[in-house]
Amino acid sequence: MITITCLQKGDFCSNTYVVENEKGSIIIDAGVPVEDILHTTKKPIMAILITHAHFDHIWYLKEYDQAFHCPIYMSYVAYEKMSDPEKNLSRQFCEKDFAWNIPKDHVQYVENQTFELLQEPIECMMVPGHSDCSICYFIDGVCFCGDLLFENGIGRTDFADGNIVKLYRSMKKVLEKPVKQFYPGHGPSFTKLAFETMVSKRR
Ligand SMILES: [Zn+2]
Repeated sequence: MITITCLQKGDFCSNTYVVENEKGSIIIDAGVPVEDILHTTKKPIMAILITHAHFDHIWYLKEYDQAFHCPIYMSYVAYEKMSDPEKNLSRQFCEKDFAWNIPKDHVQYVENQTFELLQEPIECMMVPGHSDCSICYFIDGVCFCGDLLFENGIGRTDFADGNIVKLYRSMKKVLEKPVKQFYPGHGPSFTKLAFETMVSKRR
C-alpha cells in the first residue's frame, strides 16, 4: 500500500509527487525545492523518477541529487536534454538556463521495463508525444503520466520534441493498462473512466 502526496511550487505549476510506503519514499519529478520534500516525508528517499526532461519537471534535480544521494531514473533521451537548455526548454521559458551535466553513474536509464523500488514493481513505458523522452511509471495500480494526459485533455505537442501522432499512439497504449488513477505532471489526478468520458464527449 503506497501513499501519494502531490507538491507544487507557484512558478511552474508542475506536480512533484512523494510516493511512500513503510520501506521508504520515492520522488516523481523535481519541480519543488528540497525543503518541501523534507517537510513531506521523513522516510529515506530511495530514488527519483523523471517523467520527462522539460525544465519545469527537472528544475531542482541537481539539489535533490546533492541532498538525497539516490539513483535517478529517466530515459536516455531525457538524460541528453539535462545539459541542453534549448532541448529542456529552459532557454525559451526561464530567466536563466537549466544545464546540468548529470554524472552518468547517478542515472539509471529506463525505457520499457519493470524494476523494483520500495518492494513494489514499477513498470516503465516510453510514451513519446508530448516529448520524445517521456515515460509513464505504473506503481500499485496507478500511473504517473507526466505531461501525456491531463484531467481535461492531452499534453501539448508543439515543441520541437513533440509529435501528435505519437501522442495518440502512446495514449492508446496507456489506456489499455489497468489503471485506477492517473497522476499527471500538472493539475489534479483523475480516473481512467473520467478521462475516457471526457474524450468521448469531445468527439
Ligand atoms: Zn513538458
